[in-house]
Amino acid sequence: MSTEQPDLIPSFSELGIAPAIVKAIQEAGYETPSPIQAQSITPLLEGRDLLGQAQTGTGKTAAFSLPLLSRLNDRQKTPQMLVLTPTRELAIQVAEAIQGYGRHIKNFHVLPIYGGQSMGIQLRQLQRNPQVIVGTPGRILDHIRRGKLALENLQSLVLDEADEMLRMGFIDDVETILQETPKDRQVALFSATMPKPIHRVAQRYLNNPVEVHIKSKTSTVDTINQRYWQVTGLHKLDALTRILEVEEFDGMIIFVRTKNSTVDLAEKLEARGYASSPLNGDMNQALREKTIEKMKAGKIDILVATDVAARGLDIQRMSHVVNYDIPYDTESYVHRIGRTGRAGRKGEAILFVAPRERRMLGAIEKATKQTITRMQLPSSEDIADRRVMSFKQQMTETIESQDLAFFEKLITSYQEEHNADPVEVAAALAFLVQKHRPLKPVSHVSERKQPRERADRDSRQTNREPRSERPERAPRAPRTRAEHKPEEGMKTYRVEVGAEHNVEPKHLVGAIANEAGLESQLIGRISIMDDHSFVDLPDGMPKDIFQHLRKVWVNQRQLQISMPDSTPDVMEKPAIPARQKPGRTKKRPAIAAKKRQSKSRPKPS
Ligand code: AMP
Repeated sequence: MSTEQPDLIPSFSELGIAPAIVKAIQEAGYETPSPIQAQSITPLLEGRDLLGQAQTGTGKTAAFSLPLLSRLNDRQKTPQMLVLTPTRELAIQVAEAIQGYGRHIKNFHVLPIYGGQSMGIQLRQLQRNPQVIVGTPGRILDHIRRGKLALENLQSLVLDEADEMLRMGFIDDVETILQETPKDRQVALFSATMPKPIHRVAQRYLNNPVEVHIKSKTSTVDTINQRYWQVTGLHKLDALTRILEVEEFDGMIIFVRTKNSTVDLAEKLEARGYASSPLNGDMNQALREKTIEKMKAGKIDILVATDVAARGLDIQRMSHVVNYDIPYDTESYVHRIGRTGRAGRKGEAILFVAPRERRMLGAIEKATKQTITRMQLPSSEDIADRRVMSFKQQMTETIESQDLAFFEKLITSYQEEHNADPVEVAAALAFLVQKHRPLKPVSHVSERKQPRERADRDSRQTNREPRSERPERAPRAPRTRAEHKPEEGMKTYRVEVGAEHNVEPKHLVGAIANEAGLESQLIGRISIMDDHSFVDLPDGMPKDIFQHLRKVWVNQRQLQISMPDSTPDVMEKPAIPARQKPGRTKKRPAIAAKKRQSKSRPKPS
């Protein structure tokens, strides 16, 4: 048999998730709980507090949402569950996920609340009695202070990406909100890392929490060449198609998260001419084995599989593993890529990493003690070269192996009748052959530049707080606009707040991430000067966001963002050295924090 018996992982309903929610996750195509879900669901259903060390991509949203939604009281009108997130983008994403999980619960409402959206809309939506609120700390605090959000009957509070909230300067707001909630509420705190201030919050506000973390077993995988593609500018499917065009592969297994995706993606690849088949836990054993036999026999070349279905798979011709969806943990990554490089052969592993999933990439490198090299997607020219090469090869093979007498006669008679140049005749035939699959493909998708090289990934926060795991070597801070060089794919903007206004990098990250709806990881270098600062943001900022950012307030001043390239360069002294010690900002009263967030404040004189 080609597949091992899967370990006994309890199903969502065996874990005690409410039937309406189980129905929604079945429809979403989830097969089994991810490791963090398997560990968190039972204690959360029992009402325990939880401290989870997990990053994006582990399935942590469902880990807290499924049990906490299962405990909702259908008679209560006031908010029962509050999720705090560091950015508006994450608030929306989490709210959408929760809406999906709760879609079969009667009269279920979830409300995302974040800065940048009109207060009026949010106040109206609050009147619909949402059971769940997901929001950024500043705006949530605004509503509490206006008396519009009552948390006295709150049952549960989730702090999502707590370390990010700390990094962005929101931790004081978070504590103030925690103090506004009932003493007996349940708290779940998730953080990828556990810096001291987060640990302190956990100790102060969590009651005997269950601690869960993702295992990261160290393993080595020497025979496998590992690469990753940073998801930027192109859809994953388009990227995959390009890779398939130029990679020389024999058999390939592509990992996705859900049963539904195995079917969708296999169909799309079939439509693009690749012999593909899904492999998922919904298929019975006989059908799964038949699929595997087809793969072994070369009748199909690509399997699109979930982790569970691919457990123990041993197929020698599997030359490539593509992690289309990032795995939940490092162990699962090692297991996945172990489907290639069988019997001492060489294997290739390719991982797609969305910006939010970079931490998982770091965790994988640490666990495998190997560097995963960044790959560039093949360009249209690469694809054309490849197609031309294989076309020439086919011609050679045809000349060598086919009896062409009839065709030679045909072409000779054509040439004589039309007095044609033989090369021109051959060119016309080549044109006809490639008509439906042009040798020079026209790229229909925009090819945005890949913003950063691998090495930059670690250095791009030069002037922001160092990550605790990085050494404290401080490069000299830029002194001029000219010295503040943007990375590839980024543009430098000037904002009219600086050290004189007590601004710190995290204030700018927090304000820009929330107001521009930008992931904080996408905000590049920040250089704080005396009365202004430079911030690197991804190239191609839409005009409306630019206009909006001009009016955003930070430390009681409007950003007045502009593009400094049109202004003269002057010698300036850096007001804040290149790297700063991480740590808490001066404790400021929550009300001041609210003012910092509010953009409706009148401009101070
Ligand atoms: P998160 O780490 O919460 O951001 O989740 C990452 C992705 O995994 C989301 O797209 C979820 O829909 C998906 N996901 C979470 N749990 C499961 C599961 N048990 N099975 C399949 N997909 C899941």
